[in-house]
Amino acid sequence: MNWFGNFLSRSTLLFAPLLPASAAAMGSLRQAPSPHSSAFATVAVVLIAVPIGAILPLSSSWIESPGKVLKRINFYTFAAIFSKSIHVKVAVIGGGAAGFFAAISVRQHHPEAEITLFEKSSKLLSKVKVSGGGRCNVTNACTENRLLLEAYPRGRKLMKRVLRQFSTSDTIKWFADKGIRLVAEPDGRMFPQSNSSQTIIDCLLGCAKEMGIQILLQSRIDRISTVQGSILLEGKNLETRTDKVIVAAGGSPKAQGLAWLAEIGHRIEPPVPSLFTFNMPKESIRELMGLVAPSVSVTVQGTKLKSEGPLLLTHWGMSGPAILKLSAFGARILEEMNYEFSVQVNWLQQANQQVVLEDFKARLNQHPKRQIANNRFEELPQRLWEFLLAKAAIPAEKRGLDLSRKDINRLVTLLCNDVFQVQGKTTFKEEFVTCGGISISSVDVETMQSKVFPNLYFAGEILDVDGITGGYNFQAAWATGFVAGKLSSG
Ligand SMILES: Cc1cc2nc3c(=O)[nH]c(=O)nc-3n(C[C@H](O)[C@H](O)[C@H](O)COP(=O)(O)OP(=O)(O)OC[C@H]3O[C@@H](n4cnc5c(N)ncnc54)[C@H](O)[C@@H]3O)c2cc1C
Repeated sequence: MNWFGNFLSRSTLLFAPLLPASAAAMGSLRQAPSPHSSAFATVAVVLIAVPIGAILPLSSSWIESPGKVLKRINFYTFAAIFSKSIHVKVAVIGGGAAGFFAAISVRQHHPEAEITLFEKSSKLLSKVKVSGGGRCNVTNACTENRLLLEAYPRGRKLMKRVLRQFSTSDTIKWFADKGIRLVAEPDGRMFPQSNSSQTIIDCLLGCAKEMGIQILLQSRIDRISTVQGSILLEGKNLETRTDKVIVAAGGSPKAQGLAWLAEIGHRIEPPVPSLFTFNMPKESIRELMGLVAPSVSVTVQGTKLKSEGPLLLTHWGMSGPAILKLSAFGARILEEMNYEFSVQVNWLQQANQQVVLEDFKARLNQHPKRQIANNRFEELPQRLWEFLLAKAAIPAEKRGLDLSRKDINRLVTLLCNDVFQVQGKTTFKEEFVTCGGISISSVDVETMQSKVFPNLYFAGEILDVDGITGGYNFQAAWATGFVAGKLSSG
């Protein structure tokens, strides 16, 4: 706080009993700070407190113009000074998307709170920075919660409740109100118009600063307990008491990383990776790296796992939405299989082999003399078609009428049921998340409050909630952060 802030605080505190009008005005802000009431309160405080304070010899160096000084006065400082609940202290653990949004939400819902955000590293919002390839896929354009929920392999019950309180439309509006337009791509992903994640970082940091949220870097919290009615937070060279705590410490790759929360009674779902691509070191299809089959269906043999969508061939195996979706929905099963399994690909996404057979025969009858290389299914890229012909041992120059019944059956089988061996996984560079974390059974899904530790709330990826790619994970961070920041008690 600048010297004038100190001066004003001290004079207003000293003369608080003499200032019923301004105190009442500020007190009313605790519930619903409207622009009118905040302006009124600020004016009331300044008009009454400044002249009184000015007669005290607290400082002799007030040389700034009143206009300049007024500009520097932080509304939230006043709110804190006058509020009856000045002692409500809120700690937010984690300086990522969820932590920042939770802290901002606390300020919106509880203007009087004293908010401190603890970040273990020396960097804030580091995942936001690298997200979406540096562009930050902030949310998804889908505004129908029923459809949106399908993007969450885990945590649907919780997301259903929080999306009602903070939807994708709310995210879009929230950023628009801060001057950031989110633009939708044809697949529904939404990015800031600047196409830079720094825009989102600047916005969140700016809000935190403006709202007087205190940020402590290199402040890792690794123990929470209750002492004489308040919460004690402990870390290396750190000990502090608080009234409420929001844990937004992100996903932990190992259960051990969540031991401090298990110790106080929370159930932990074992963490495993989600959103990864498939390694296929022995498969020659890797030659086609960079090629996209626009509409395939993929199943994992021996399981019920199935997904559909575009498939991208890479120099290490397979990626793209169809594979990433499979990795997300199958995160646990595939981990149990030690990432060694076979996938069946239907390159035409048509489940029925008989339909494909009839379709193929009709094509051959239509152009019997055409070389088979030039008679592909339009939805398949030419290079993939030639690859499949070679795999089926059919010379590319063979004419349709020269194909044997066995040739036709072999090719159709490959088209509908091509099998590949997966050996290992690679983390998707654009976005990866942890499946597992704090069990939903330990959390009140309406408020994000812990069921086992009073006045403790959760937000973000630390929860056993995760989505597929497309902005759904940040949406979960914004929405759970917003709800946790209400500090509701159910
Ligand atoms: C490369 C990459 C790209 C991604 N791109 C996208 C995308 O475009 N769209 C999307 O929706 N999702 C994306 N995601 C997922 C998304 O980034 C996460 O789901 C989201 O950041 C989770 O936010 P969070 O605040 O819960 O956790 P985090 O962002 O992980 O933040 C947690 C913070 O808490 C701190 N912390 C941890 N433990 C403690 C402790 N004990 N004390 C104090 N501080 C602690 C950490 O240092 C960290 O700063 C991406 C993920 C990755 C890895």
